[in-house]
This record gives sequence, structure tokens and C-alpha cells, in this order.
Amino acid sequence: MKKIITVAAALLAVVSLQAQPQVIAHRGYHAKQGAARNTLAALENAQQLGVYGSECDVNLTSDGELVVIHGPWLGEKNAPDRLNVQKSDLATLRSKKLENGEVVPTLDEYLDQTAKDSNCKLIIEIKDHDTPQIETKVVKMVLDAVKRHKLQDRVEYIAFREHVCNELIRLAPAGTKVAYLNGTLKPKYLHAAGYTGLDYKLDVLKKNPKWIDEAHKLGLTVNVWTVNKTEDLKWVIDHNVDYITTDNPVEALSLIGR
Ligand code: MG
Repeated sequence: MKKIITVAAALLAVVSLQAQPQVIAHRGYHAKQGAARNTLAALENAQQLGVYGSECDVNLTSDGELVVIHGPWLGEKNAPDRLNVQKSDLATLRSKKLENGEVVPTLDEYLDQTAKDSNCKLIIEIKDHDTPQIETKVVKMVLDAVKRHKLQDRVEYIAFREHVCNELIRLAPAGTKVAYLNGTLKPKYLHAAGYTGLDYKLDVLKKNPKWIDEAHKLGLTVNVWTVNKTEDLKWVIDHNVDYITTDNPVEALSLIGR
């Protein structure tokens, strides 16, 4: 009897461990001193912190280079010399310093850093581009780069554009994780279209909490962005999401109990 109870307790512990959400550092763990959003330092910090994954944003420059930056602008909102990321070439973008002194990283540099830590996934958000043709090209280029770096099992994808997601689903190796960001599609639709998950804004999930269960029943993962306040972190943990994307990964980890 004692043995059965011990086994049951161990199983319960495993189940409750699995039920805990995983933490994704939004644009890396950028809040730590010396880092800034979407920098190599932010990715390295996320790796050192031991989170499940580090998110980043990818854009194509005017001379056909993939860069890690949120965009659409580089520079302060009202700065006269701010640059439109997709309409600038790599050299021009790299002539400006980011807040932490780095320059805009290329996707290749980001993948080199990703390769250094096998525990931390890279969550690549492919940004909207001007036409579906360009977006297809960007998807192909990103998938090629990830393949070249042999990181196919360590990279996951997210996008706001349905076209980008559809192309990822069509072109990425089977089993690649692709989640939709825009919050407008129901779990049933995403499942039928071949997505592996949804990645919705906190407000969307608060308005539609039943989507969490619906998604799980369909085998979809549920990610939520960008959850920064303590009360919101508690809400998403209580609602059994699978991934929490946050600018505050240290607090998220501590609330989850890790
Ligand atoms: Mg993003």
C-alpha cells in the first residue's frame, strides 16, 4: 500500500510539474543591465536565466539581409534620423548603436548565439512585410538559415500575418511549431489549418478564457503575450496556459516556483 501511495505521489508530482507554464523572454531578457530588446546580450541573458525560450523579431532589410529588430523603425519616435528597417540596408542600420551599445544583430548572429545553449529555444516572430511575395521569401530565407545552423528542433515560429503562418506550415519540417499571434482566429480554425498553437494577447484570452481549454482539447499549445504585471502573471498561471511571454521573466519564474 505504501508503495502504491509513493508511486501515486511521484506521478502526481510529475503531472503537476508538467502542468506548469513555461516562460519565454519577450525580445530576450532585456531588462537586465547591459542588454536591450532583441540584442545578443538579451538572448544570452535568457539562456543564463534558464527560461524555456527567448523570443525575437525578424525583418528583411532593403538589401536582402535578415535582421533581429522589432521595427518598423530604428530610432526614437520623433527623431528626424530614424530609419525604416525594411527600407534601409544592413550597413546603414548597423551605423547606429542600440541602447546597450550593440548594433542590430543579423539573424545569423542570433542563431550562432542560439546554438551555444541547447536548453533555450528561439521563438522567431516573422514580422509583416509589404507583400505576400516578400513574406514568402522571408519565410524561405528564415527556414534556410535555421537549417544551415542545424537548429530546426530548437526554433519555433510566430507571426501576426496568416499568410506568413500558412507559409511556415507549408514549408517548415513536419512537427515545427507555428503559432498565430493576431488573436482573431478560433482554436478550431487554427487546428484545421495546421497550426500547433495560438499565441494571443492577454486581453484576448481574458475575453475568451474558454479558448484555452478548447485549444488544449485539440492538442494546440496556448501562449500568451506580453504578461508583465504580477496579477496578470497569476491569472495566466491559474488558467493553465502552456507558455507565458513576458518582459519580466524573473518574476514569472518565481511565481511558477522555479
Ligand atoms: Mg515579437
